[in-house]
Amino acid sequence: MGGIKSELIEFDLTKENCFVCGKPADTVEHLFPKWLQNKFNLWDQDITVSNQTNVKYRQLIIPACKKCNNVTYGQLEQKIKSNKADEKDIWRWANKLHFGLRLKDTFLEADRKNPGKKISDIYELNDALEQSRHYLHCITGEFSCYPDPFGSVFKFEFEEEQSFNFIHILQSSSIYICLGKVLYIVFVTDGQLMKKEASGIIEDYNSIISKDYKIQDVLFFYAKCVYYLEQHKYSNPIVFSGKGIAKIGSSTLRKTKPLDKEMFNAICERFGITWIDESTLK
Ligand SMILES: [Zn+2]
Repeated sequence: MGGIKSELIEFDLTKENCFVCGKPADTVEHLFPKWLQNKFNLWDQDITVSNQTNVKYRQLIIPACKKCNNVTYGQLEQKIKSNKADEKDIWRWANKLHFGLRLKDTFLEADRKNPGKKISDIYELNDALEQSRHYLHCITGEFSCYPDPFGSVFKFEFEEEQSFNFIHILQSSSIYICLGKVLYIVFVTDGQLMKKEASGIIEDYNSIISKDYKIQDVLFFYAKCVYYLEQHKYSNPIVFSGKGIAKIGSSTLRKTKPLDKEMFNAICERFGITWIDESTLK
């Protein structure tokens, strides 16, 4: 996507400034909100971050001012918590997780045994952090996007409460999060490629939600999505105006890797599911 120049106020992302507006931070925003941590008793559980070490969920906090924390995100959290969020809300919420986890990467040491290099010094994806910061700002109205949500949002619902589960994959800028009776898969930056243009994916989604499904079916769907993005390169025709980003046509999509069952199997294993090859792959 190249460098993004915008009219958003530039500020240093530090531990002292609000991650949204850049004003002095006098609160901390929990990346995984308190209600969620309480519900699933996550506070002292470990999560594996990009440098492959574990931190506690309660340690995943980012600096915020009172207004952004309590008002802006407070209202959004209420919608997520009560399952009243629409796709735009879900995408904005996923942006916070995606951006916040990447921001934590700039604070955390890449290798705790050899301090000096932060995780973000190692993972430099075309200044993806700066890109994510712009998407994040859609919540304040300072930045707009078309389509809105800019990314693909897939929602799944269950009659029974399910266990908490969270997967964040940097390569595909995607988030998988199960909140109990509702589960979201969000591709934060894909211009709705997965939802609207990726052949086979939308058909899969529609076929899953048209019948009874289990967590395994959803994980398998996510594995296929991640595998799809591993196999293809895409670019989005966009115009960037400084105050917003708009996709102005279909994505260009190119298959760059042949069928690789081992890779797919590895993704499934990472997600904790077993794939039985019945040639569901193309
Ligand atoms: Zn703020």
